[in-house]
Amino acid sequence: MDEADQELNMKVSCILERETGERRLRYHELRVRRSENSAWIEYHLLFQSGVTLDAAHKTATKIEGILSSPPDVHSYINGYLEPRETHAMDHRITR
Ligand SMILES: [Zn+2]
Repeated sequence: MDEADQELNMKVSCILERETGERRLRYHELRVRRSENSAWIEYHLLFQSGVTLDAAHKTATKIEGILSSPPDVHSYINGYLEPRETHAMDHRITR
């Protein structure tokens, strides 16, 4: 059975705080679940307008690589790329 893991959640939060802070990004909607040998990590990355999809994807891939580096579990990571300026409106549309 999977469960919320406070230690893993703290670890992921610290990494996201550091990596987004260094890049002047924001994140939200962090969800972390863990089973015996796997971890599921989901979050939204908020990019400023004008950032190309290519640049955003490269940044997201770097952050994903850092998040998946702990070797003790297999991580499934979903980082959603969102525009900072319109994401609140986008969430209202999709929820
Ligand atoms: Zn979002």
